[in-house]
Amino acid sequence: MMKPIVVAHAGVGTPNRHKDGPAKACRQALRFLGKGRSALDAIVAGAMVLEDDPRFNAGTGSYLRLDGVTIDMDASLMDSNSNFGSVIGIKNVKNPIQVVRQVIDSPHVMLYGDGATKFAYLMGIPEYIQRPTSNVKKMLLRARQRLKEGNPAYYARKWRNWKFRKTILKELGGTIGLVLFDGKKTFAAASSTGGTSYSLPGRVGDTPLIGCGVFAGPAGAVTATGVGEEIIKKTLSKEVYLKIAAGIPPQKACEWGVNLFDPRIPIGLLAVTREASGSAANQQMAKAVVPD
Ligand code: ASP
Repeated sequence: MMKPIVVAHAGVGTPNRHKDGPAKACRQALRFLGKGRSALDAIVAGAMVLEDDPRFNAGTGSYLRLDGVTIDMDASLMDSNSNFGSVIGIKNVKNPIQVVRQVIDSPHVMLYGDGATKFAYLMGIPEYIQRPTSNVKKMLLRARQRLKEGNPAYYARKWRNWKFRKTILKELGGTIGLVLFDGKKTFAAASSTGGTSYSLPGRVGDTPLIGCGVFAGPAGAVTATGVGEEIIKKTLSKEVYLKIAAGIPPQKACEWGVNLFDPRIPIGLLAVTREASGSAANQQMAKAVVPD
């Protein structure tokens, strides 16, 4: 009899001292599996714990975009039975991942913007007016200041010379993600975010895109965190999955994935197979695994 495995992170850049959050999420997912719930339902339950934790950049703690008023959230879910769903730029719901779960049962795979928010309400998910946390407001001020000074983080270097920079006038970390094996045959991956620092309203990262922020198949499940613009260009979760499918252990596959990037670009990965789990990041990344 194989055992379930759940791994969760709270975003590359999130200090290790916050790993109690991912640990609580893993235990919640495991509890759901213990009650006989599906891999998808269990991973959603785990992700909701992190979305409700204001320390992390997803759900309640989602970042403000650079305009200082917009909160746009992206989230996705995939399992090894080819179920995939995502929402892009959803607003005013507490748990974007819960909406994604409903998208999977709908005739579509992706919903964006107002359409996604209306769909959530139609599905009985209540409106939730988001108020930026004091931490989120601080991050925004810092990012705007760095932009004004022409000195944003390395991963945001294109902002240095971008001609619209002055007319638009945050740091990375805190996106959430989980991978899970249900102890029988199904794998699942989940991710949810408020975007990165230095995000314009309308910007879409890797999180809602299949193969970029998440991927799951018969050999395992993978989720990525970090600079979405860079992750998309490498379809990172799918590439790491392909390594695992070729027999590379999940730990080695995650390390391989992180090493594809310049170390100044924050990147983190989680992966799970039937036998093991792995994780790698080029900065601190609060995370937990059960059983550990
Ligand atoms: N990957 C997310 C994005 O680019 C951010 C993160 O993982 O911190 O939207």
